[in-house]
Formats: sequence, C-alpha cells, structure tokens
Amino acid sequence: MGFKLSRIDILSEKLVEFVAREASRIRYDKQKLQVVTGPTLAGLSLDTIKAVASEVVKERNGLLYCNLCRKGPYTKRGMYLHLIRVHRYDLKVMISEELRERIARIT
Ligand SMILES: [Zn+2]
Repeated sequence: MGFKLSRIDILSEKLVEFVAREASRIRYDKQKLQVVTGPTLAGLSLDTIKAVASEVVKERNGLLYCNLCRKGPYTKRGMYLHLIRVHRYDLKVMISEELRERIARIT
C-alpha cells in the first residue's frame, strides 16, 4: 500500500497543535484527535505525539523548559504559546520524521 508523502505532511501539520499541548501538559480531547487522524492512524499518531512531546520539553523541579532553544521556565500556557509561535515548523518536521518511521514499520 504505502502512504503518500503529502498525506504525512498534512497529518504532521494537524498534529502540531496536539504535540504542543501534550508537551505543555495541557489536556486535550483524544476523541478530537481520532477525528483528525482517522481511526486507522489514531494509535500511531498518539504514539508520535507522545514521542515528539517528550523530546521538545524538559521538566525540572516542576517547571517547564524548552528543549529546542533552552528557554524557560514557562507556565503550561506560556510553554504552549512558545512552541506554537517559535517552533511550529520544528515541531512539524519532527512529527513528520517520527510518523514516517512509524508508518514504515507497519507497511
Ligand atoms: Zn524554544
């Protein structure tokens, strides 16, 4: 079968929001995620979100720091806004690489 690159690209763009939330410890609706990804890719997308989120934010003494540019500490909301405003493209690239690897393993 195989997934077209453009499809991974579109999905990556959609997952940026979820990764920023997961990384900032802000709750999000898993049901909404499934609507975005479709049922087939829901599990794989959730694993991708968790993997990328754990890379981009480090928690020290209960405070959140950006692991991409070392800035911080941030509140949850501040961390979320920093990721969306400064690292949107970085997140998209990381997500798309992670998705590609995970999809390659199952196809
Ligand atoms: Zn940063």
